[in-house]
Amino acid sequence: MSKKNLFKTCALLSVAVLLSACGQGSSPIESSLSSQESEASISTPLTYGFYTIEEGVSDLSFIQGYPWINTSVEGVMSKLKKPSPKDDFYTYTNYDALKDVAVPEGEMQAGGFFQKQAKKNVENLNALFSKKDTELASIAKTLIAGGKASVKAEVETLLSAGEDAIRSIFASSSMFRGISKFYEISHVTDHEEIGIRFSENKLVTGLPYFVKLVGDFSSRQIKSDLLLCAASEGITENLESRIDAALKSMISILKNAEASDKKEAHVTLLADLDTVFNGLFNPKKALKELGVSDEQEVTYTDYELSISKQFDAMVKDGDINVLRDILAICKIADGRFLLGIKEYQDNISGKLASLTGLTGQSPEFPEGSSDEEIARIFIERMYPEAVKRAYIDTFVTQESRQKVTRLVADIIEEYHNVFTSAKWLSQDTITKTIEKLDAMNYTVFHDDDYVSVAPFAVKENDNAYETFYAYDDYVVSNTASGVISNDEIGAEKMQTLNAFYIPNKNSFMVCHGFCSSFIDDKALDKEALYGFLGVTIGHEISHGFDSTGSLYDKDGKKQEWWSKEDRAAFNEKVAKLSSFYNTKLRCFNDVPNNGENVSGEVIADMGGMKVIANLAEKDPSFDYKQFYASQATCFGTVFTMDIAKNAVAHDPHPLPHLRSNVTLAQFERFQKTYDIKPGDGMYIAPEDVVLVW
Ligand SMILES: [Zn+2]
Repeated sequence: MSKKNLFKTCALLSVAVLLSACGQGSSPIESSLSSQESEASISTPLTYGFYTIEEGVSDLSFIQGYPWINTSVEGVMSKLKKPSPKDDFYTYTNYDALKDVAVPEGEMQAGGFFQKQAKKNVENLNALFSKKDTELASIAKTLIAGGKASVKAEVETLLSAGEDAIRSIFASSSMFRGISKFYEISHVTDHEEIGIRFSENKLVTGLPYFVKLVGDFSSRQIKSDLLLCAASEGITENLESRIDAALKSMISILKNAEASDKKEAHVTLLADLDTVFNGLFNPKKALKELGVSDEQEVTYTDYELSISKQFDAMVKDGDINVLRDILAICKIADGRFLLGIKEYQDNISGKLASLTGLTGQSPEFPEGSSDEEIARIFIERMYPEAVKRAYIDTFVTQESRQKVTRLVADIIEEYHNVFTSAKWLSQDTITKTIEKLDAMNYTVFHDDDYVSVAPFAVKENDNAYETFYAYDDYVVSNTASGVISNDEIGAEKMQTLNAFYIPNKNSFMVCHGFCSSFIDDKALDKEALYGFLGVTIGHEISHGFDSTGSLYDKDGKKQEWWSKEDRAAFNEKVAKLSSFYNTKLRCFNDVPNNGENVSGEVIADMGGMKVIANLAEKDPSFDYKQFYASQATCFGTVFTMDIAKNAVAHDPHPLPHLRSNVTLAQFERFQKTYDIKPGDGMYIAPEDVVLVW
């Protein structure tokens, strides 16, 4: 329930985002796995592409790709021989570090750059919260005890509430919090529109969340909530049947809503919302409380409308028992930070395992978490602004910030040359492109005017649960009134392992967590800095000029600012790139690549590499081999099979081995450095080069 990123951001590492963003565990990936992979065993060494596969590799489903094998997938790296850099640069570079990496049970990804950064970020946070007498620690202590009692009391009240009380809850504005598992109220500010819309986020996550009880990683989210629901004393009575009935209802509501035309958005004035949501279950009151006026526009989709109508019907039909349990489950899920897992471990785990087929612990808090650890997780989730402030004060040095700021300035200057030499564009569009580049805002580690974001003050007698909602209100209402002007950037935690570009702000951000393990290294080579961070910054800037970003002008307004001819030339280049991904590369037999879906990220990867390569040319002693290795190391990671397949199906980022290899192979300098010739795995013929910028 913390602030959400409403805008489509272009993150560098989307899986990292999935792991770290969204405290409610929402995740846009829905598993496409239907069953176990078919197995085929190889009795003799097989040459495929440019590889000799070792004897004993049993799963052929992922090695049909040309020219690279999907080395992102757990177990594949260890089955390979270390290739030549001419054939597969990514695997060559990451082989030693990743060949023995296995993704731990319950995790999606492990190894390489990702793991190193994530580890450092945890160290940093632990250090931050080990200062026992910090403000944050004392906030945690005073809030948690009261909050835990408060959640339990609310759940108990709900579970014993009579019919009239349940009716009035469903008719009240606070109900919207109770059903946050279904959808959420969010502010959207754009240049023409200030209003509210119901995020579709929950639509994407809602179904796998509740329906797929076993078999893919979304089950971890269900597990989390169910276990913590169970941990509440109030809902252990007739646990199996009550949860079962409530879940069945929720699934049915979601499925019915899914059947409606969810995509179609409607805009109406808040004043007219009564007419649309005609019944007990009406969002108007809640929206008014959150600062929206009658004259402001509200956007909703048929999906939310359908859910509201179904709830309405349930209330009118008197399905009070089920509604009561749904409310309780949602309440507990909202307050689960406070409930801990001891009750579950002591009393509930066996029952839940038999109900759901799931075993294991809640991912919210590691087993045996101390009060301090629970306090840390709680505070980090609840008060991102406060944690960000403390993190910056403690870890972000002036030197490292200056280092990155200089790098950004160099990259922006070099982009002038990249755009000026884009001869396929008219001079007029080139001029406008450079104008947009110069107008781009950016945040390196934190804003200079960061203090202007008004701090949220915890009231003296509030407990954690009340504060939790007060914080949410604070964020929402201050965004609406413009006090928090940079919400989507401000919401990012400094420890986030990522970087972002926001098209409708024409701005990008590099979070400290992305480079926490190396940025303060005074001996850091230029090549490593360029390969790790330079290409990332170049990538984010390039997003301003990719298939999505280029639709927004220098002020972040979505309107065409290119000539028809230039747009057509751009689209042709993008189509060639998409086609390359669709026809020349394949990761899995059963999950086709989606070149159109990844085109924006590919343009950004290649644009980032291009601009840094240009910068490197200015240094006669530049060590290219080290630089290319840094780039490949940065992408080095191992996914589980289902995560890799999900990523191919849904993620706008190509898999890591493709992001490294396909990008590097575009560049003549790279081809020359490793003396790559036709027939080598990393060879791309000049006519197949798909660089857009
Ligand atoms: Zn990106």
